[in-house]
Amino acid sequence: MTEDFDAVDVIVTKRDRGELSDAQVDWVIDAYTRGAVAEEQMSALAMAILLNGMNRREIARWTSAMIRSGERMDFSFLSRPTSDKHSTGGVGDKITLPLAPLVAACGVAVPQLSGRGLGHTGGTLDKLESIPGWRASLSTNEMLGQLADVGAVICAAGEGLAPADKKLYALRDVTGTVEAIPLIASSIMSKKIAEGTGSLVLDVKVGSGAFMKDVDQARELAETMVSLGTDAGVTTVALLTNMQTPLGLTAGNALEVRESVEVLAGGGPEDVVELTVTLAREMLAAAGVSGVDPRDALRDGRAMDVWKRMIRAQGGDPDAALPVARETHQVLAPADGVLTQLDALKVGVAAWRLGAGRARKEDPVRAGAGVELHAKPGASVRGGEPLLTLHTDTPERFERALEALDGAYFIAPEGSRPDLLPLVIDRVDWGGASDGLTDVGGPSMSTGWGERRPDRRGRPSVPSPGVPVMARNGVLQRWR
Ligand code: URA
Repeated sequence: MTEDFDAVDVIVTKRDRGELSDAQVDWVIDAYTRGAVAEEQMSALAMAILLNGMNRREIARWTSAMIRSGERMDFSFLSRPTSDKHSTGGVGDKITLPLAPLVAACGVAVPQLSGRGLGHTGGTLDKLESIPGWRASLSTNEMLGQLADVGAVICAAGEGLAPADKKLYALRDVTGTVEAIPLIASSIMSKKIAEGTGSLVLDVKVGSGAFMKDVDQARELAETMVSLGTDAGVTTVALLTNMQTPLGLTAGNALEVRESVEVLAGGGPEDVVELTVTLAREMLAAAGVSGVDPRDALRDGRAMDVWKRMIRAQGGDPDAALPVARETHQVLAPADGVLTQLDALKVGVAAWRLGAGRARKEDPVRAGAGVELHAKPGASVRGGEPLLTLHTDTPERFERALEALDGAYFIAPEGSRPDLLPLVIDRVDWGGASDGLTDVGGPSMSTGWGERRPDRRGRPSVPSPGVPVMARNGVLQRWR
């Protein structure tokens, strides 16, 4: 087959800080998916993008080309609107578990295609797999049937959805090219748009336990993703939320399922309840449903009913005992005082080393492993009382987990007040529905990004067209 372009020319264009044409972007994604662009060529291009960036037109085109590399799902047969949530990942982030049944109980269908954990952040599928019998893989028909019947489904994404992203993400993972906003935004949004949800709420985590360590980077990623979703006709909103400290009181698969069930039963830690309800309100609003308070569905048991049906529909027993680790070790508070800091990343790494996470995609996870928190920042603690409980099946793991926790917490004298970010730091939206200028799936894609509305601070919500995204210190890329 004669190819329309030469991969080396495409790489050199980006290496020399040029702009890729629509035709070049379409070709390179298609040719890479077919195997006509070699892995080493795509990795050179990904590195050139990380270093020299892409403008908005290129990002939009890249996203639409990845969507077109596979199938798109269609939920138009459902009698109710759909809404999905995507979190950029954090420590103790079990929110999807109570959120999906809660939103379904309020009248909006939730098609939640989720992933597994890698490194210190947990994965929703790993958590749910700690429920005896539950299975993550569903056929498309099973998924659609469950969505129509129960209203909520959490399952693994099928192979046919954005296959270009699957291949490219695996390559970025081993070539140091994950941390580029154009590539992260297009990766996440191509899957969400191909999934076919009518609306989407993005939970962009900020802090030590998140991809994005500072608020400006997170806002930039959020704005890029909101613009991609809106232009594809998906009502998209993003919240920037705090990931300086773990969410809730547990990090680890079965431990987090237990905590999620507490929330569905009307209890649970305050921050988990608050974020679940806040995201549920955003999803209902994005789906056009008003006058429903998700707190009522937690209080009166409707959300719990949907949870049980959702788990049973995938072979799980919602009433079965959850796995418990064989061994525990307590970390005691060294002094009386106020806990002012409990670092999410260090707790996440400890949970991972205890067996809750995996280092390679093929590794198994231990359902009972993880870390339990007995206090959160702002709480008074007493010297000698438990601050954390470590759970594992293999006690040799305690030493490395304790090493990870070195410097993870700080206890200040009684009366101190920690300087904490709020749980919800900011909100990014488009101020309305898409203007329909852009058909992400089709050839008539608009490049008119510059006409977008400013955000509520009066700044352009996304940068001007044609402005390259440049690397700063070789880490994350920012618009200039
Ligand atoms: N999650 C994704 O799906 N893609 C990325 O690039 C980063 C996080």
